[in-house]
Amino acid sequence: MYGRDEIRKNIERILSELDGRAELLAATKTIPADIINYALECGVRTIGENRADELLEKYDAIRKEGIEIHFIGHLQRNKVKKIIDKVSMIHSLDSYELACEIEKQAAERGLRMRVLIEINLASEPSKSGLPIEEVRPFLDRIRPLTHLIPSGLMAVPPKTDDPEDNRKLFEKISQLFIDILHENEDNREWRYLSLGMSGDYLPAVECGSNLVRIGSAIFGPRT
Ligand SMILES: *Cc1c(COP(=O)(O)O)cnc(C)c1O
Repeated sequence: MYGRDEIRKNIERILSELDGRAELLAATKTIPADIINYALECGVRTIGENRADELLEKYDAIRKEGIEIHFIGHLQRNKVKKIIDKVSMIHSLDSYELACEIEKQAAERGLRMRVLIEINLASEPSKSGLPIEEVRPFLDRIRPLTHLIPSGLMAVPPKTDDPEDNRKLFEKISQLFIDILHENEDNREWRYLSLGMSGDYLPAVECGSNLVRIGSAIFGPRT
C-alpha cells in the first residue's frame, strides 16, 4: 500500500482526469479504516467494499458524513441482512434469488435499495454476472420487487494488459444502458453505468461509464 502523500496525489490526479465525467468510487477491499478516512479527506465521496464481513469489521470506524458506501463484490444471499442498512447501492445483482432476498430485507427495514445489474461481459463461466442478452428479461422479472430500484449496469471485464482491449465490450454494454434508458424515459433512477477499474477507467469513461471503481491506482498493489 502507498503512503498518504502518494494516495493524496493519486486521488487528485484521477479526479482531474475524470474531470466530472464520472464519479470516483474508491474500491477499499483490504484497506484499513484510517486510510479510507484519509481518502475521504482527499476528496473521495463514495467507497465500495467487496466482502460483507470486511465491511462490518470496518464500518464503525469509517467516517460516514456526506459519503456513500456501495457494495461491489459478489453478494451471498445470507449476507444481505447484514449489509442492507449500511450501503446505499449494490453493484452486483446477478440472480433472481439474490433480488428476492434484497427485496425481503429492504421491505423489513422500510427502505428501497438501488441495485445495478452485473453483466458477465465476456461470458466467462468463472465470473459472476448475467449474460448480456438476459438483462432485459431479468429487469422484467424483478419489476414487481418494489423495494429494489434498478439503477443501471455494472461489469468487471476480463483482465488484460492493454486497456484498449475492453473497449468493444464497454461500448456494447454502454449501448444497452442507453437503449434501456430510452425505453423508460420517465425512469429517473436508471442512471449508473459502473465500468472501469484501475487499468481501464479512461477507456471506460470514453465509452460512457459514469461510475468508475478504482482500488490499486489509488492505494497501491494489494497484499
Ligand atoms: C477490487 C475491485 C475493483 C478495483 O480494482 P483495481 O484494479 O484495484 O482498481 C473494482 N471493482 C470490483 C468489483 C473490485 O472487486
